Amino acid sequence: MALRLYNTLTNQKEDFKPVEPGKIGIYVCGPTVYKDSHIGHAVGPVIFDAFKKFLVHQGYEVKLIINITDVDDKIIIESQKQGVSMEELAKKVTASYFECLKQLGVNSVDEFPRATDHIQQILDIIQKLMKKDAAYPVDGDVYFDVTKDDDYGKLSNRRLDEQTEGSRDLASKEKRNAADFALWKAAGDDEIGWDSPWGRGRPGWHIECSAMSMEYLGETFDIHGGGIDLVFPHHENEIAQSETATGKPFANYWLHNGLTRMRTKAASGEWKNEKMSKSLGNIKPIKDLLEQHSPQLLRYFLLSTQYRSPIDFSDEAIEASEKGMMNIYRLLDRVNRITTEDVFGVCSGLENLSASDETDQSLVDSAKQAKDKFIEALEDDFNTAGALAEIFDLCNAINRYVETKKLETVNDTAGKILALETARQVTDLGQILGLFQGPIEDSSSDGLADDLMQLIIELRAQARQDKNYALSDAIRDGLGKLQITLEDRPDGTTGWSRS
Ligand SMILES: [Zn+2]
Repeated sequence: MALRLYNTLTNQKEDFKPVEPGKIGIYVCGPTVYKDSHIGHAVGPVIFDAFKKFLVHQGYEVKLIINITDVDDKIIIESQKQGVSMEELAKKVTASYFECLKQLGVNSVDEFPRATDHIQQILDIIQKLMKKDAAYPVDGDVYFDVTKDDDYGKLSNRRLDEQTEGSRDLASKEKRNAADFALWKAAGDDEIGWDSPWGRGRPGWHIECSAMSMEYLGETFDIHGGGIDLVFPHHENEIAQSETATGKPFANYWLHNGLTRMRTKAASGEWKNEKMSKSLGNIKPIKDLLEQHSPQLLRYFLLSTQYRSPIDFSDEAIEASEKGMMNIYRLLDRVNRITTEDVFGVCSGLENLSASDETDQSLVDSAKQAKDKFIEALEDDFNTAGALAEIFDLCNAINRYVETKKLETVNDTAGKILALETARQVTDLGQILGLFQGPIEDSSSDGLADDLMQLIIELRAQARQDKNYALSDAIRDGLGKLQITLEDRPDGTTGWSRS
């Protein structure tokens, strides 16, 4: 199968065809840096970082750009509140954003261009639009004339006459059309600004992204991403001004990720999902989340939903996600213990594995199937949820295999090699998305408790093996008194929890 992507521009899944064979350019709208980033700001970077890693794995040469909006009314207002300069505030918030991304394993972004470093490129586009009479000045502001773009509204499927609302520009001085938006905003001498042919001012938000994306990826590039809330007016306006200026298509594929919603329980006991917003007071800064949870878990959580779906955020959802992820880590731990080999090493190739009986063959088949289906899921509009389900299936197959072959007690070298190589297949697949790169500390307990519990679990497994049920039951009951529950499964005990 080839890569297929859901394109907001056409409202359907399409076969992906890059502008230049073998190469892919991706631009993603980044944050406006005036407040510490919340979890919603991490969704896009984590998704597109994982997406790039997958595309690179598939043999593409990929350039990923995420911009920083470091000049904006919001930053100006917040900096005045804090009594610092706009630059100072933007710098501080950008540094904290980068630190969060680093922790979340977002390390494949090629450039993080800042709007204030691209004023000349912005002015150049506005000049081009002026020459075509698609832009006009009003008292030091410059507006884009939406009627000069024949297919204005094609991304959000809005007709021009519906567009009197939704514009980010509150100024309505003497615009030609209600939907016209600002490319340049006049600034007073005491305000932050740059010289332009129309007087001192600062760029509008939309034009910043047009200038930066085309600067790094060319006038026509492959993929433009961002949150679904940016479709209108931001992305619609990016298309209008870019295509009117160049006369060429702007981005060929528009990928929009779902938003993060807060899942909360109302006083009535009913669950509800609401948008994260400052006014609702339900914004969780990433910094705080990283203190509560491991970065691996947060990355795993964000990737366990297909990117177009909303992510419902709650402590319960994170815990459920942790349970799933720890099941995988426990299997890896188990194989590591049995084989004393590094399960995070590279699988030497499933085709090299030899099966001596049906049980072996069934595991080898499961591993091959998991690999194929994992890639297939990602090729199908980057379905990370489907891909992770394949990893789960493979882990279950390995657990069954360890149990059937009694690898915990029997010295079966060939069986151990098979368990090790298939477990390495699990980490190899995960690593395509930047997951399962190394051991994790279980945040729910300290390391010693984990090790001791593992020892007890093994002793109990041995007791059951020896049909010494009195001893194995005594261990379970004793743990029960300590409020510890063993997770007994048909394929063997693989975990424990404290109630
Ligand atoms: Zn943007």
